[in-house]
Amino acid sequence: MDSEDDTKDDVDSGNESSGDDVDFVMDETHSTRERQTELEEYPYEVLSTEEIVQHMVDCIKDVNTVVEIPATTTRILLNHFKWDKEKLMERFYDGDQDQLFAEARVINPFRKPVIQRPKQPRRISSSGAEECEICFSILPNSMMTGLECGHRFCTQCWCEYLTTKIMEEGLGQTIACAAHACEILVDDATVMRLVRDARVKLKYQHIITNSFVECNRLLRWCPSPDCSNAIKVAYVEAAPVTCRCGHISASRAERIGTTPYDAVCSGSGLRNAMTTLRRPTG
Ligand SMILES: [Zn+2]
Ligand SMILES: [Zn+2]
Ligand SMILES: [Zn+2]
Repeated sequence: MDSEDDTKDDVDSGNESSGDDVDFVMDETHSTRERQTELEEYPYEVLSTEEIVQHMVDCIKDVNTVVEIPATTTRILLNHFKWDKEKLMERFYDGDQDQLFAEARVINPFRKPVIQRPKQPRRISSSGAEECEICFSILPNSMMTGLECGHRFCTQCWCEYLTTKIMEEGLGQTIACAAHACEILVDDATVMRLVRDARVKLKYQHIITNSFVECNRLLRWCPSPDCSNAIKVAYVEAAPVTCRCGHISASRAERIGTTPYDAVCSGSGLRNAMTTLRRPTG
């Protein structure tokens, strides 16, 4: 025994980068990993805020590899189906697409030219200036903007409108066009383009992320009040999960079991963390 060890040591000292040693270490790591997988009866993943956003982007990309529509439209559709990709696909291919887009409150991107345009904005001069129907300012085209529904307002009015919706009403995915009675939803890219205040943008992103987690059957926030991680499970089952912060909780299934699913989705308010983002009083 001793003589064997000595021999090995001698070989190592004579040959510093011994390939055999590396292989041996890797084998051991591999077997440890296999053992861990066997123990993980209930696979789950802990996601940070950035990873939640990435997961949301990946979901949109997944759908867009099959359905070629703008990513912003996909996000609205996915939110309409509570981020259930299969359900969205099913409806997209089996049902009435016009009705699907109308229900989700977006313009059908395949039928844009057919959509009846609402009243054209008043063109004041041959130079192409338009009058904003909110503030009545007469402005160049470049300062006017709108959604696919054709309602156009000045960027300043849009900014104020969106800021009010986000900061005072706490709306995210469901902000409608600023035109009276127009139900078409403002997509996230438009919000991020028109809102200038970083604080408002941040709150909007929080609302969007929160809605994504709250509505997704396979995601839930870590219940620890100081933690902003979410737990992503592979399937819905009542099994304990441990967050990176150390908080152990039951998986989402337990909540669904006691609360109607829709109530979980629409009824829960924003995270505690978000209260710090509320606008200062006065
Ligand atoms: Zn205006
Ligand atoms: Zn509109
Ligand atoms: Zn946690």
